[in-house]
Amino acid sequence: MENLKVGGVHLHYYAVCKRKLWLYDRGITMEQESDRVLQGKILHEHAYPRLQQKELLIDDTFKIDAIDGEYIRETKISSKLANADRLQMLFYLYQMELRGIKKKGLLSYTKEKRTKELILDEDSKKEIKKAIAGAFSVLERETAPKVKKVPYCKSCAYYSFCYALEEDEE
Ligand code: SF4
Repeated sequence: MENLKVGGVHLHYYAVCKRKLWLYDRGITMEQESDRVLQGKILHEHAYPRLQQKELLIDDTFKIDAIDGEYIRETKISSKLANADRLQMLFYLYQMELRGIKKKGLLSYTKEKRTKELILDEDSKKEIKKAIAGAFSVLERETAPKVKKVPYCKSCAYYSFCYALEEDEE
């Protein structure tokens, strides 16, 4: 457990799919994943032109997009994975609070042109602690969690990997 580390992306994947979290943590990456990361990088480069401090690496553990006054900011393309985005932001707020820095969160969705504010209250603190413990228990597994069909699968970088056998059988 001591060697395990989780970051914001882990929490995002934890909310989306436990198998995805496990595969990602084991360094199993797919071609499209790189494209997605590149897409994210381009988005981030254009998201905060007036902010000098962009993408901060905290304690060599997790990266945040930007700090804007009392806010930690994250920009996403769409709100399709809003619950996972929320959990990821709560993780950052919680980690910052553990380091004595109290912030609020701002999640911006470029497609919908809307921004959502998030506050780390007692309930969300409990929720994020539980999710972190849950993510650790997934990472401790010797084998990947089984494929579980979710609507997101078709957009997932691991789709061909997870469904290769199924496609062969068709
Ligand atoms: S394709 Fe589906 S089951 Fe496989 S990692 Fe992605 S979301 Fe999870």
